[in-house]
Amino acid sequence: MRSVINDPVGEHYWELEVLFRTAGDLPKRLGSLSDALRGQHLLHAKMYPLYEKCDTFCCAFTLGLRGVSMEGMHHSIREALGKDVVSLKHKLVSQSEVSSSNEPPRCGSLDEAGWAVLLQSLAGNFGTGALSAIHSTGLEIGASKGRELAQLHAREDWFMLLMKGLDALQSSGWGKYQLLKTGTLPHNIEVRIFENLECKAAMSVHPFENSFTRGYITGLLRSLLSDNIMVREERCIRKGDDYCSYVIE
Ligand SMILES: [Zn+2]
Repeated sequence: MRSVINDPVGEHYWELEVLFRTAGDLPKRLGSLSDALRGQHLLHAKMYPLYEKCDTFCCAFTLGLRGVSMEGMHHSIREALGKDVVSLKHKLVSQSEVSSSNEPPRCGSLDEAGWAVLLQSLAGNFGTGALSAIHSTGLEIGASKGRELAQLHAREDWFMLLMKGLDALQSSGWGKYQLLKTGTLPHNIEVRIFENLECKAAMSVHPFENSFTRGYITGLLRSLLSDNIMVREERCIRKGDDYCSYVIE
């Protein structure tokens, strides 16, 4: 009976992260990468550009190897992408990590109109106290995301973790982000959010301070920098700016 269970006995799983330059032809590079992975037991894949305007792309996979070693896998990927490979990293992951990462978290969502109703109702009934509560919620969720990322990717630089945390916000539909270094110190950062869901939904809520998003960014940065920083929303679509921008005070 064991043979019918989808649980290959003795199969090891790996997390493999490939950073490569797209060299102006991303579909071709992705096609070559997919050819190099052909025949392997691919469980999970995540792909994203590292910066809006940068030529580097990241693909992260969880896979079980079939018939090749990890060294063989590295060789195939380097053959497929050639000099465009920026870095190639792997680590062994346990069966329990693989099973837990396969369970998608349950989530419910509200569209922009739904958020507008919720924010109007909260601000109308409970005033600025409700907005503070939304801010605290964002703060806690951002800090918790930062701690989770630091634990999962212990060897990653904090700036990479910040991007992963902002990826999570973006992929949940809160807006598209752009990250800028404005100076040499770790605190010299500006996060721009385009099409900010919360600010668009709160257009008719007065007074309103961008609560959840600012809280999330603050909490994320506090946990990654281990510093009690404050974040100010400098520009905002509610004031007629093209995007919302968050800077560390
Ligand atoms: Zn805004």
